[in-house]
Amino acid sequence: MKSMSSSIVELAPPEVVALYEPVIGLEVHVQLATATKIFCGCPTSFGAPPNTNVCPVCLGLPGALPVLSQQAVEMAIKAGLALNCRIRPVSRFARKNYFYPDLPKGYQISQYDEPLAEEGWVDISVDGEPKRIRVNRVHMEDDAGKSLHEGFRDSSRYTYVDLNRCGTPLIEIVSEPDMRSSQEAYDFLTELKQVIQFVGVSSCDMEKGHLRCDANVSVMRKGADKFGTKAEVKNLNSFRFLKAALDYEIVRQVAVLESGGRIEQETRLYDPDTGQTAGMRSKEHAHDYRYFPEPDLLPLKISDRWLSEIRAQMPELPAQKRKRFIEEYGLREYDAQVLTATRAVAEYFERAAGTSSDPRSAANWVIGDLAGLLNSAGKDIAESPVSPEHLGELVALIGKGEISGKIAKEIFPKMFESGQPPSIIIEKEGLRQISDVGALDKMIDDAIAANPKQVDQYRGGKTAVLGFLVGQVMKASRGQANPALVNERLKARLG
Ligand SMILES: [Zn+2]
Repeated sequence: MKSMSSSIVELAPPEVVALYEPVIGLEVHVQLATATKIFCGCPTSFGAPPNTNVCPVCLGLPGALPVLSQQAVEMAIKAGLALNCRIRPVSRFARKNYFYPDLPKGYQISQYDEPLAEEGWVDISVDGEPKRIRVNRVHMEDDAGKSLHEGFRDSSRYTYVDLNRCGTPLIEIVSEPDMRSSQEAYDFLTELKQVIQFVGVSSCDMEKGHLRCDANVSVMRKGADKFGTKAEVKNLNSFRFLKAALDYEIVRQVAVLESGGRIEQETRLYDPDTGQTAGMRSKEHAHDYRYFPEPDLLPLKISDRWLSEIRAQMPELPAQKRKRFIEEYGLREYDAQVLTATRAVAEYFERAAGTSSDPRSAANWVIGDLAGLLNSAGKDIAESPVSPEHLGELVALIGKGEISGKIAKEIFPKMFESGQPPSIIIEKEGLRQISDVGALDKMIDDAIAANPKQVDQYRGGKTAVLGFLVGQVMKASRGQANPALVNERLKARLG
């Protein structure tokens, strides 16, 4: 294996790879977050004992008839709308026939030439410029079961089958071959995942297989107008694997072409252990799925009224939110990006900003101190012990000059620890900023008396010494003196 990989790099060094342009399209399966399966009432819960979440419908027993889940359709429509697709008024289910031990029906119920949603797009950013990746279609289908080849004492001889996943609702999102690098594919999938999570139709948890990705890859000489022969790469179950597999596959294809070979149209599997892809089956022997319209289901009709009801439930999407955060709160592009990473973060920020009267400062606290403490506590923002209102209050107290920024940094971890509002902690610990002129003047006089040398220097024209004297007063007040006021009074005193 090792020698194969080195020969590929020798045959296609970076300067040769640079002569080619990759062409990438993705097929993404997303598990919808319905409580029940797509054509029966069995639960979709993860981790149930094997073969317990099943019934005659999802086991494909003779005579059992599918009933389409309305919730699954609504979620699929939301995904379609979030990906800027046109929703077809009439779509149709079709049987995709193939034999596999974890597919007891002998076919998957999918959609073929009349999918639910078509002609959408996702915008990504390439070198700071927006690039539109077209989405060819979004269709609905049911999932198959799972074949377990490992983990049993007799796994060397037997494969076990768990049919709990049979009938779990999926959508398949097919992009156009618009991506030209592994980074673009990575960014497309990132954006897609974020949008799907925002509309709340899937957790997109890759570890649980709720988001699965296959890639179609080919390479062509730069400037060519005809795409090369593509290979389909499967088993890309993390963002990192997607990028690594594409990078390997691009170099491999260039190496094959450079050595005078031709690319086979085939399905290849990515092996995370070797970082390589290997041929699995040739497309020449590909399945003919013999699609035909599903006779047990009526065409799926979506009325204008139903569609507008669903449209009205759509939340603000990440891109719109980013734009609004920049315009409404004056945030920087980067901050807006971070604060719209998930819906929970965005909602937290907006609530904090609302009570803070200083949204930019609230943004800094959420991105900086809060994220830091959450990270080290291993907590999600939804579990934050500091409520957004309390964080907003803390920011407002700094703004009003009741506490200094330095004191706020000391209070915040205590808020995180106790869940208490800042006002309680300030009161309890006597941390309120000292703005009482009488008290300040006393401390200022003490500082002047204790530092005659610096006072002389200042009076002699060395005004930079003022900072030192302010520092002495701040120290005497244990950081609680109002610095602006100290500055002002000290100058007046020194005349
Ligand atoms: Zn069932």
